[in-house]
Amino acid sequence: MSFTLHGLAVSQGIAIGQAHLVSHATLEVAHFTVRERDIQHEIVRFEQAIESVRAELASLSGEASAPGAPTELAALVHMHAMFLDDPLLAEVPKELIRLRRCNAEWALVQQMEQLVAQFEEIDDSYLRERKHDIVQVVERVLRVLLGKPRRLSRKPAKGDKADKDGAGELVVVAHDLSPADTIQFKNLKIAGFVTDLGGATSHTAIVARSLAIPAIVGLHHARPLVRENDMIIVDGTRGVLIVDPDARVLEEYRLRKRELELERSKLKRLKTARATTLDDIDISLQANIELPQDIVQVKEASADGIGLFRTEFLFMNRDTLPTEDEQFEAYKSVAKAMAGKPVTIRTLDIGGDKTARALTGTERQAPNPALGLRAIRYCLAEPQIFLAQLRAILRASHFGKVQILIPMLAQAAEILQTLAMIEQAKQQLRERRCKFDEHIPVGGMIEIPASALALGPFLKRLQFLSIGTNDLIQYTLAIDRTDEAVSHLYDPLHPAVLRLLSLVIQAANKAEMPVAVCGELAGDPQMTRLLLGMGLRQFSMHPSQLLEVKQQVVMADTEQLALKVARLLKLDEPERIREQVERL
Ligand code: PEP
Ligand code: MG
Repeated sequence: MSFTLHGLAVSQGIAIGQAHLVSHATLEVAHFTVRERDIQHEIVRFEQAIESVRAELASLSGEASAPGAPTELAALVHMHAMFLDDPLLAEVPKELIRLRRCNAEWALVQQMEQLVAQFEEIDDSYLRERKHDIVQVVERVLRVLLGKPRRLSRKPAKGDKADKDGAGELVVVAHDLSPADTIQFKNLKIAGFVTDLGGATSHTAIVARSLAIPAIVGLHHARPLVRENDMIIVDGTRGVLIVDPDARVLEEYRLRKRELELERSKLKRLKTARATTLDDIDISLQANIELPQDIVQVKEASADGIGLFRTEFLFMNRDTLPTEDEQFEAYKSVAKAMAGKPVTIRTLDIGGDKTARALTGTERQAPNPALGLRAIRYCLAEPQIFLAQLRAILRASHFGKVQILIPMLAQAAEILQTLAMIEQAKQQLRERRCKFDEHIPVGGMIEIPASALALGPFLKRLQFLSIGTNDLIQYTLAIDRTDEAVSHLYDPLHPAVLRLLSLVIQAANKAEMPVAVCGELAGDPQMTRLLLGMGLRQFSMHPSQLLEVKQQVVMADTEQLALKVARLLKLDEPERIREQVERL
């Protein structure tokens, strides 16, 4: 039966494919008693499932060691294989089948619950977190038992034949996905994804945009209503999910998908064009990246530099922290690949919705993580982690035009402490006789209203600014960016937001300090003219959005826009503001 669900459109485009449910399988297994004479058969079924997952993990392990695969993937697969072979998982459920006559799935889930409960008692937070790995291994076995052995395959290499019109394409359907889950999709072949939870500027949504695959979040009931292998359409532009579409709807969407692809390929003509406005103002269009491998997309879009490298993604999905050398190699590869174009490396912005299990040992359980020990606050509280990262960035500065960006600064004292730490890292490198750029520019993110309203110390002590509109909006309007229950209130055009933005851009321009916007607003072509009219000359966004924004830039006249935007900033009624923005 066909039905439609509505959620938040977070990454444009249309995906047509089969649903692949990613879940906590515990709740879904049937519980029944096996007849005496079927017990042996049930045990064999269980053993075969374990054997099949063993083979699955062995083949995954081969892929995980292939060139280009994240190094931590191999360690993860190895750990899962170990859990699978442990008698507590491979043998005890067989006892339960024999003694209690449980069906295999139920026996396995009971044993998993026991193990998870034991892990929850462990004090050491690292070991405690291993319970998630147990659940993941059990989920694999359950999928085989339930007759759904399915795993996502790696991205095809260049030249591989593409799937046609969604046949064989997979769309991930999940209740919720963390940014750490989502970043792993970069190495997998996925046509799109949808989740029940999540806000439009959550980091999960941001990563979806960087994957350039259609995505919808905040669907509320997709996970319980959609079944594995259902044919689904993800309209990532309108936020509509169509399950089991009829032939007519399917044909319409196939057509629309082809049209969109055509539109995108036409945009490629702008790749070599300069981003200059009609009144001859050069605009810098830079890229946001999460991992060094994103450089491929950055080059394809001909970005003028990296305006935001979200380094915290290097810390995710691994059990140990990346060493200084490992970080150095990652930053150096980006600096070298950009061949003299600016590379803005943001220091670790962990906390809020971004968590890394390698850091959980030191991380406190915050009652409100978005307002807690996040970003620079965390780094100043963990000087050794911060210093290692600063040294790695500084060393990379010898190989390109690197600059350091500090997230979530609000206090003058934090700026001073940060600069002192950078000096300390420099001194350590001097003692080691390592080369680095002595004059590396240091910038601050403006993402807390307090910093926008009290810019003095930023203008005095730093060399550039970058406005993080995702957080600036979250903190100005007091709306958790990850919570779909309040996502309707997340409004970039709220007069308070517009005034703060304009205030920062104007003050920076007056002080002749470079200022960029690197939040999601910078990549929204409907906002380009507004930002140009405020005086913004530097934008940083996901590479997939860059050409659409360039299209807006080349048709804009900044002088005219400045006059119109000055008038618009005096308005208070949201509807009038929206109207005027559309007319710019
Ligand atoms: C922002 O807050 O706008 C930003 C760019 O940083 P992040 O989205 O990573 O918090
Ligand atoms: Mg931010």
